[in-house]
Amino acid sequence: MIKEAKTTLKETFGYDSFRPLQEEIITQATQGKDALVIMPTGGGKSLCYQIPALLFDGLTVVVSPLISLMKDQVEQLREFDINAVHLNSSLSPEAYGYNRRQVLQGKAKLLYIAPETLLMDKTKELLENIEVDLFAVDEAHCISEWGHDFRPDYRELATVRKEIFPNATCMALTATATPRVREDIKKTLEFGDSEEFIASFDRPNLFLKIADKDDATNQVLDFLYTRKNQSGIIYCISRRQVDELAQELADEGYSVKPYHAGLSDRDRAINQRKFIRDDVQIIVATIAFGMGINKPNVRFVMHYDMPQNIEQYYQQIGRAGRDGLRSDCVMLFSYNDRHKIKYFINKKEGQEKEVAEKHLEDLVKFIETKKCRRIPLMDYFGEEYPNEECGMCDNCISKDDNVEDFTLQAKKMLRCISELEESFGKTQVINVLRGSKAKTVLEPEHDKLDTYGTGKEWSKTQWEQLSRMLIRQDYIKKGEHAQLEIEEKGRAVLKGEENVFGTLDRTATAMSTEEASR
Ligand code: ADP
Ligand code: ZN
Repeated sequence: MIKEAKTTLKETFGYDSFRPLQEEIITQATQGKDALVIMPTGGGKSLCYQIPALLFDGLTVVVSPLISLMKDQVEQLREFDINAVHLNSSLSPEAYGYNRRQVLQGKAKLLYIAPETLLMDKTKELLENIEVDLFAVDEAHCISEWGHDFRPDYRELATVRKEIFPNATCMALTATATPRVREDIKKTLEFGDSEEFIASFDRPNLFLKIADKDDATNQVLDFLYTRKNQSGIIYCISRRQVDELAQELADEGYSVKPYHAGLSDRDRAINQRKFIRDDVQIIVATIAFGMGINKPNVRFVMHYDMPQNIEQYYQQIGRAGRDGLRSDCVMLFSYNDRHKIKYFINKKEGQEKEVAEKHLEDLVKFIETKKCRRIPLMDYFGEEYPNEECGMCDNCISKDDNVEDFTLQAKKMLRCISELEESFGKTQVINVLRGSKAKTVLEPEHDKLDTYGTGKEWSKTQWEQLSRMLIRQDYIKKGEHAQLEIEEKGRAVLKGEENVFGTLDRTATAMSTEEASR
């Protein structure tokens, strides 16, 4: 069978060799064994069921939640001369009827179908009278509440399979590999462990870097300075932010277009097309951008705002470097952004809230790690990163010699915060430390405090950097009204039980010489 698969790969799709695991998965399916396929986006999941679909006599049913992607896939297959059709609520009655007949007459090899359409009685009737050999469940993480896109309809798929085409082999595919989601899928679809195929999620050509968000727009400009001809995506959290940043970059002379759900379908399509054709260098976008985009030469992905979870981060950086060449992924991180996300999470309830909290926690772990970033990243996907150092992330490049002992200054700052009864913000704390004569200091008689003027040796910027570092390392936190509050770790420092080490300025977004030479 595998020889036929190779011939199909070459003759129908025009590819010379299989990507990792494709061959094993195709063999498994053609032997009539179920398979759970976990592969990163762009890994080549579709071929895993498309080739068996062509080798089987009967029909392959592909469940997919996104109508637009379904259309793309069907069109692509038709270009390869493969008879594929789709059924979903977006079709006109004529098109629906035509596609239905293609299935009924055994002409279609693949039927792409939305889950809610599959659950309809008339579809069940249609498929009951047909030989279905393969049942492919795309985006299978939608089965699990622990995924990032739970869809209740997906829960019913196992029943449909049993009722309508019990003899079909089942293949579930997803790019979400967290062990929890994996377990959920296997349990729901009744798969055994031997039926799991997990490709590596590592993308070794992506350089990963995280910088403290300080003066975000200037940080973006610093980064772009040496990349005037490189294609890239900058993700922002809101439409307003997208429009603003796109305008600012355009004002600086960059070739840039915005992309978000607030634009008309037409404008979105135009901007996307221009980007893909390299008529436009940069796309500034919300999460809405990127689904199904396969542009090989995206040289950088920047996160102007922190993503909501690792899943999203990984999907988004995954759009860089599809051609295998080195590409840079830079995230700007601030505790404010984290609070914003937390605020939205707090509005959720029950398990949904629990899941979102866990996802945020995992992301923060990844951001704060001092180890190679690939260790927590791969760990999130249930994969053990085999190396101590990847040499392709900021942490692997910046060596310990940047880390200094800031215990003395940290103590001064913590004492000052404590004297101010943890009810003032960063500016007041720094003004007191630096012995400012500002009214805001003199009027409340903060010049009488013990710490007044004890921090003159440092500039305002240095103290600001230290406050960010202390927040980053959980010695202090910003309260609801931006007042600085001392955390347990901070109290330990005051008691002399803990020393503070770190790097002050982590706002550089431009690659250092060493980083760039990788
Ligand atoms: P996924 O669904 O995992 O995100 P796709 O199935 O869309 O990935 O495949 C990503 C790209 O890789 C597609 O352009 C596809 O044609 C290409 N591809 C898949 N398998 C191979 C292969 N064996 N050789 C070359 N290109 C491949
Ligand atoms: Zn590393």
